Amino acid sequence: MASIFTKIIQGEIPCEKIIETDSEIAILDIMPCAKGHTLVIPKLEVKLLEDVPESEALSLMRTIQYVAKAVSTAFDRIDYNIILNNGSNAGQEVEHVHFHILPRPKGSLRPFHQRSNYAEGEMQEVGAKIRNCL
Ligand code: 5GP
Repeated sequence: MASIFTKIIQGEIPCEKIIETDSEIAILDIMPCAKGHTLVIPKLEVKLLEDVPESEALSLMRTIQYVAKAVSTAFDRIDYNIILNNGSNAGQEVEHVHFHILPRPKGSLRPFHQRSNYAEGEMQEVGAKIRNCL
């Protein structure tokens, strides 16, 4: 069965898209640890980092770097974590490899400690703010 991210990539499930390349998509996380929490997802549906073909790895890292810079810039050069939960014991819930770009406001709790929801229309505003910094 297709992963939830494959369904998003195929346009079957809506998302707040930051950017789409030939090989990756970046979207806002629906239950963010902080505003601007972004996921970078290879279009190829594989579970683990080591399953990503070497030929795709450079493109993936380039997109992570490009999007992370935009996320940081959008929030006044905020610090951030880049996190991969690689396997269920590492906290992976969606079995389709993806990197979290996690903005870290000063004094913020450790990653994944706290989740929130966007208010009505806020996700679209945050998405636009990040896209403006690409
Ligand atoms: P994991 O625990 O697998 O590393 O992270 C999966 C992430 O995907 C979670 O942070 C979760 O909030 C996010 N997520 C799950 N379903 C959806 C969805 O339908 N849309 C979006 N934008 N994010 C999702």
